[in-house]
Amino acid sequence: MTETFERERQDVLEAVRRIVATGLVAGASGNVSRRIVTPDGDLIAITASRVPYHRFGVDDVLVVDFDIEPVVGDGVPSSESLAHVAIYRARPDVGAVIHTHPVHASAFAAACTPIPAVLDEQVVTLGGPVEVAAYGPSASEQLAQNAVAALGDRAAVLLRHHGAIAVGADLDEAVAVADLTERAAKVCTLAASLGGARPLPDDVVRAEQKIYRMMKGFK
Ligand SMILES: [Zn+2]
Repeated sequence: MTETFERERQDVLEAVRRIVATGLVAGASGNVSRRIVTPDGDLIAITASRVPYHRFGVDDVLVVDFDIEPVVGDGVPSSESLAHVAIYRARPDVGAVIHTHPVHASAFAAACTPIPAVLDEQVVTLGGPVEVAAYGPSASEQLAQNAVAALGDRAAVLLRHHGAIAVGADLDEAVAVADLTERAAKVCTLAASLGGARPLPDDVVRAEQKIYRMMKGFK
């Protein structure tokens, strides 16, 4: 019997429901994937393109290989599949990728301004400030490569003039990263009316980055 990866596709569906419930995505924007490790090589379960979230079901989560060739399911995989695969290839520690268009993080992406490290939890969870990738058109290989370069070994990156990408060891972690990225952007935006958020001291950032890297198992 052919493997249908039901559990992995359900995982993706649950993550989709969570990011819809918290307002990180609307309509059919954004996309979610998780890595599937098989003896024959890694695959990804990823949301289908252009299916509105109010009609989204498990059949709208497709399984494809790293060449975006279909393995399970009918439909067109997310237009940002190239970016998801590029991140999985570059980051063996990443098990889930979530791309969103939330308002506050997108404001930073539109202003081409990194989200500075202003909250303690930001650095230990995200790895530092959230950098802005060089521009690449939506769905392009250029966007994928620029996102990988700006992400580095951190957990979130902004796509210039577009939105945000969050990664994690699993979908729970990636959802938490997506939430925190938007929250940090919102906090910075609100703090602007109070004179502006102050960056964390450099020595604190360095110490917290050490904790982030230790938790990730990075050398
Ligand atoms: Zn997008």
